Amino acid sequence: MGLRTFAGGVRPGHYKITADLPITPARVPEQVVIPLHQNIGAPCEPAVQVGDSVKVGQLIGTPKGFVSAPIHASVSGKVVKIAPYNHPLGNPVEAIFIENDGQDTPWEGMKPHKPLEELSADELRKIAQEAGLVGLGGATFPTHVKLSPPKENPIDTVIINAAECEPFLTADHRLLLEKTEDVILGLRAFMKVLNADKGIIGIEDNKPDAIEQVSKALAESAGEENIELCILSAKYPQGAEKMLIKATVGREVPPGALPMAVNVVNQNTGTAVAMAEAIKLGKPLYERVVTVTGPGIKKPANLLVRVGTLVKDLIEQCGGMTDDARKLILGGPMMGLAQPSADVPAIKGTSGVLLLTEKEVKQYSIVPCIKCGRCVDVCPMRLLPNLLGSYVEMGLVEEAEKAGAMDCFECGSCTYICPAKRPLVQWIRMAKGEIAARRKK
Ligand code: SF4
Ligand code: SF4
Repeated sequence: MGLRTFAGGVRPGHYKITADLPITPARVPEQVVIPLHQNIGAPCEPAVQVGDSVKVGQLIGTPKGFVSAPIHASVSGKVVKIAPYNHPLGNPVEAIFIENDGQDTPWEGMKPHKPLEELSADELRKIAQEAGLVGLGGATFPTHVKLSPPKENPIDTVIINAAECEPFLTADHRLLLEKTEDVILGLRAFMKVLNADKGIIGIEDNKPDAIEQVSKALAESAGEENIELCILSAKYPQGAEKMLIKATVGREVPPGALPMAVNVVNQNTGTAVAMAEAIKLGKPLYERVVTVTGPGIKKPANLLVRVGTLVKDLIEQCGGMTDDARKLILGGPMMGLAQPSADVPAIKGTSGVLLLTEKEVKQYSIVPCIKCGRCVDVCPMRLLPNLLGSYVEMGLVEEAEKAGAMDCFECGSCTYICPAKRPLVQWIRMAKGEIAARRKK
């Protein structure tokens, strides 16, 4: 039987140069800058004031709504400032500046919970919410919201997204190897909350060591018969929710709908580990694994990073940039966010710090489409990126909307494959922004 996958997509090089490097703790900075908005949904408001002393894991940001996640101190010390600061998403965001006292004093509230078997679904959901868990693949959707589907969408399957299909990134790969039991425990916790019969861990076939290790762990532990390891063909964007669901359980999520519409919930590998740690240690999400990588960094690494550490500090710890480094991206090269400056804090959604050199930076051109059809072949959403791009180029945003621009999830496969180097996803993203603004109005 062939490996499981979806229709469309591209096969960029893997460039997993950090795959064999174990996770090491990053240096904890003298000051962290923790933004009060780190999730899809509402931001938080400060739960502390300037001058307050805080401990590691203490609540410092209270959510302003249900679709939001609390924020916790990543060091112990003193709150010295609350003010807007650079943010990976673009505009400055209110942030809490904590001067590190170097003591790493843990907050007294960080205590282990009961074992999973003794926790109810409601208790588990509350643990996820209070720990500030969000999707760690980069989407940062609050985990407790995903764990609260409406009654009309009962969930039968939870899928752990361990595809890590973006080139260069290896944070999830290392967690599969180094925290195998926690990945499984997190999955079991999600299954229990959702009353799901089946769990799936989907791993791409370019991680044979992780496949072997997870497979062994599942075989050795009693009671895991309802958890299946699904080996996926290494293809981008295999880790996108809809593609992962199609490949693993063969269901199609309708346009505009969420995975729960087909009775499935996806969770990222890092989120599963964070859930396990929230149960076992009472640990909120104040640190995460970040892959610092690319031809533009001197010593690539997989680092366990405290939220609020500045990216420039991480780059410095990894030996600094090479002389020919030209572009900084937070996340992977396909869907990551290009940054104008490294003076920006790592947040819950920062999976990678990628430095590219002149050689890898694609130069776009506004030359006519040569009608080769390649972008249409690779679009996993079965859109017509050539047409969408042309509409936007001509300023026909309404036509782009009618042609399904809002169904594009900006995977960038079309741009990657286009021999004319047309900035297709950039155009579509622009149109989506305009359409969303108009709809809001
Ligand atoms: S149109 Fe959107 S979904 Fe389709 S390939 Fe391009 S970026 Fe991906
Ligand atoms: S890949 Fe580029 S050149 Fe080919 S059809 Fe699409 S937009 Fe046109």
